[in-house]
Amino acid sequence: MRGFLVDGMLGRLARWMRLLGLDADFRPGLPDDELIEIAVAADRILVTRDRRLAGRRAVRDRVILIAAERWPDQVAELLAGRPELGPIRPLTRCLRCNEPLVAVDAAVAAPAVPPYVLAHHREFRCCPSCGRIYWPGTHRERMREMLRRLGLDPGPPSDGGGRVPTEIRDPGPEPD
Ligand SMILES: [Zn+2]
Repeated sequence: MRGFLVDGMLGRLARWMRLLGLDADFRPGLPDDELIEIAVAADRILVTRDRRLAGRRAVRDRVILIAAERWPDQVAELLAGRPELGPIRPLTRCLRCNEPLVAVDAAVAAPAVPPYVLAHHREFRCCPSCGRIYWPGTHRERMREMLRRLGLDPGPPSDGGGRVPTEIRDPGPEPD
């Protein structure tokens, strides 16, 4: 799956892309020229709402121009228009760093999570970059609810372990 570079004005979309497991580099505050340079050098697809930026020759073959203003519509637009995104694997990336998460034992996660979470979950994932611990509770349910609201298939319900990532097969229609 190809990686993305998300324009600074699309922060919530970037976070959602990471939640869905997409490789979404996000660098707010960079000038257009630097964004283009990074997208080309790292072979990333630039995601932007800036029509002028999207029209620049250097990125013309590697850009997704988002039209929607609201982030749920932006997520739907990205998913619906891009079947080449491939299988989507939610909850496999750090929301903060975009790093792929690695599975860790409860013993490793223990110092970082509340006791009631430790008591109810066995599967934990850790970000190798920031050390943040993820478990399949709140994020997973929130994400499933949002996917339903977006008209997307949220996949099978959580089995409590959440080890098998949800896959979105057929993007549905845009909401509203
Ligand atoms: Zn991280």
